[in-house]
Amino acid sequence: MGYFEMTRTVLRNLVRGPATRQYPAVPARTGPFTRGHVTFDPTTCRSCGLCSRRCPCEAIRIEKEEKVWEIDRMRCVACGDCVEGCPFGSLTMEPEYFPPVVEHVVERHTITYVKPEKPEKKPKEESAGTGA
Ligand code: SF4
Ligand code: SF4
Repeated sequence: MGYFEMTRTVLRNLVRGPATRQYPAVPARTGPFTRGHVTFDPTTCRSCGLCSRRCPCEAIRIEKEEKVWEIDRMRCVACGDCVEGCPFGSLTMEPEYFPPVVEHVVERHTITYVKPEKPEKKPKEESAGTGA
C-alpha cells in the first residue's frame, strides 16, 4: 500500500511539473493583497515622521532640514505598517515586486512641505506676566 501511494505521488508530480516558479525568469503571481513594494508621494507628505517611527526595520528616514524622505529597500520587509499609519495617504503598497538587486538601494525623495517645529513653551514665571 505504501509503495503504491508513493508511486502514485511520484507519477503525479512528474506529470504536473514543479509547484514553484523560476522567478524572476517567470513573472511572480500577484493579487490585490500582495505586498510587493511601498511607493511614496512627496507632494502629499507632511513630514510628520509617523512612518519612520512605526517601521520595525528602521527602513524609513526623514531629514526635515534637508527636506529628504528615504526608504532603504534592503531593510524593508513590506509589512505595510507605514502605509497603514500614514495619516495623509502618501504611502501605497503596490502588488508588484521589485526586481532582485545585488547592491544596496536607498531611494531618496525631496519633500515639499516640512512640518514646523513646535515653539518652546515659556516657563510659568515668565508667562504669568508682570501686571498687578
Ligand atoms: S509619508 Fe506619511 S507618515 Fe510618513 S512623514 Fe509623510 S505624511 Fe508622515
Ligand atoms: S513596509 Fe514595513 S518594513 Fe517596509 S518601510 Fe513600511 S513599515 Fe518599514
